Formats: sequence, C-alpha cells, structure tokens
Amino acid sequence: MPRIAENIFTIQQKLGNCKLIVVSKYRSIDEITEAYAAGQRTFAENRVQALLERKAQLPNDIEWHLIGHLQTNKVKSIVPFISMIHSVDSLKLIQTINREAEKCDKIVPCLLQIYVAKEETKFGLDEGELIDLLEKIKLEQLDHIRICGIMAMATFTDDKNQIAEEFSKAQSLFNQVKQEYFNLDTLFRELSIGMSSDYEIALDHGSTMVRVGSAVFN
Ligand SMILES: *Cc1c(COP(=O)(O)O)cnc(C)c1O
Repeated sequence: MPRIAENIFTIQQKLGNCKLIVVSKYRSIDEITEAYAAGQRTFAENRVQALLERKAQLPNDIEWHLIGHLQTNKVKSIVPFISMIHSVDSLKLIQTINREAEKCDKIVPCLLQIYVAKEETKFGLDEGELIDLLEKIKLEQLDHIRICGIMAMATFTDDKNQIAEEFSKAQSLFNQVKQEYFNLDTLFRELSIGMSSDYEIALDHGSTMVRVGSAVFN
C-alpha cells in the first residue's frame, strides 16, 4: 500500500466514530491526491488563500474545513463552499459569516475556538471570553450560522499529562456549554481536539474530530 494510504488506514483504525480531518497545509497537490485516492474526503487548510487554490485544483466532492484564523474580509470567498469553520472567535466574525451565508441561502457550520494551552497564542477564547461571546450570541438573530461545537489546541509539549489536562479542560467546557447554552441540542456535538502528536490522548477526552497533518503525509 502507498505510504499515505497506509498512514490514513493506520490512523482510521484507532479513531472509531471520531472523524479524521486531513490537514493538507504545505502539502503538494500530488500528496493530497494520494490521500484522496485512499478514500479521504475531508481536508483542512489554515489559510484562506491556500484553501481557495487547492480547492480549484482538486475534485469537487472534497469537504473543506478551515482551521486557521479567519479575517472578516475573507469570509465571503469561502462561505459558498466551506463545510466547517473551526476557528471562530469573535462576534464580529460570527455576524459576518451569518450575513454572507444568508446571501448564499446557506447555513455554515462553525466551531468556537477556545484557548486551553499554557503557551502564548493570539488566537482562541479563554473561558471568560467564551461565556461572554455565548451571552452575546443569545441576543442575536443568527439563522445562517450553526455553532456545532468547540475547537482547541493543546500546548506543544512531550508532557502527556499536561496535554491530557488541557484536553480535559476543553471537554468539560464543551459539556458545560452544551448544557447551559445549547439546551443539550444534539447539533452541538463536535469537539475538535487532537493533532498528529496528541490525537490518541484527545480520543480519551471525547474528541469527535481530529485534525491530522504530518502523521498522514510524513
Ligand atoms: C497544522 C495544524 C494541524 C495539524 O498539525 P499536525 O501536527 O501536522 O498534525 C491541526 N490543527 C491546526 C489548527 C493546525 O494549524
């Protein structure tokens, strides 16, 4: 079996019901095509420009996810086709997605990106900001965006206990928000945690989607 197909197969074996999202950033069209030939249909990019370029060169039945920071002025270009945006972190972005989605008569599935890692990052909401945003969302009429869950990244470290602690924090926030803000709605169901180095730990903490790049392509 070709290497990429074999990697996908090996990872899939461990996932059960958790969905594999192959992160194709920095990979060649040939490499992505190899993953596609192995049956993979869900891919993610972290930059809008790269996402648009790849989409144009690859088959139409690919589901594209955006996992990187999204500027409001780029929303319009991805809303017509995007399957999920994992990196939503402000009311302004939510309002923009909703407005553009309304124009396309679509409902765009989104995740709120939270911040659980110890290391410094510009992106993601801490617990207070998450609650604050959810309170504001309640007051809005948002018929064209669906908040489906939460995305988080753990600290880049070899310390498995620390990673487990951070994923556990993400899982408990997910459960709390599902109960308090989504009335246990089954459409609020995605917990996007886990990358190449830590997806097995994420699986122990309720991950429903893992975003894996290097473990597929290396
Ligand atoms: C790059 C990236 C990944 C995948 O990283 P790997 O270590 O290559 O699996 C997952 N999530 C986000 C947000 C990323 O930017």
